[in-house]
Amino acid sequence: MRRDLTEPCAKCHLSQTRKTIVIGEGNEHAQVMFIGEAPGYYEDVEGRPFVGAAGKFLNELLSEAGLKRADVYITNVLKCRPPNNREPLPDEIEKCTPCLEEQIKSTKPKIIITLGNYATGFIFSKVGLQFNGITRHHGRAHEVLLIGLNVHVYPTFHPASALYHGEYRQLLVNDFRSLRNLLLGTDSFVH
Ligand code: URA
Repeated sequence: MRRDLTEPCAKCHLSQTRKTIVIGEGNEHAQVMFIGEAPGYYEDVEGRPFVGAAGKFLNELLSEAGLKRADVYITNVLKCRPPNNREPLPDEIEKCTPCLEEQIKSTKPKIIITLGNYATGFIFSKVGLQFNGITRHHGRAHEVLLIGLNVHVYPTFHPASALYHGEYRQLLVNDFRSLRNLLLGTDSFVH
């Protein structure tokens, strides 16, 4: 069941600065789920995840993996924008965790792609995997038991990292091409 947006969350102080709560979007029963960090400026304005520059690059990456946005579910660790896009604070992550867990439980994805350090660190901590930074873990899938579900977790860099550090662009493209092979091998996720 999806969170009721008629009752705006005020569990943390981000409720005082956000414009909208960005819950997530896509196929609510998708086999493939993407988890980013937190909404940025454009996401906060539009109420949709990954609609800014990083989102445009994510759309390109999805096609490298043979996926369309409508086939997958996209969300973030935090549902509200941190002021000036600062990094999420532990207290904010803790307050937002029930919402993300609820989304994972109701979507029941077969594979979760974690985008960047925050999402990967968050999911690794939930399944008892040690996280040593995205550079160490990107492009390698782990089969885990996450809140009672058998899922593959596939970490990669955050698409925004390629906008600031060009060298990550090709690494991301490579990871999404490998993801395509993983999806083809695991099940018929690719349309
Ligand atoms: N960065 C994120 O982590 N999530 C978004 O929705 C947009 C940018």
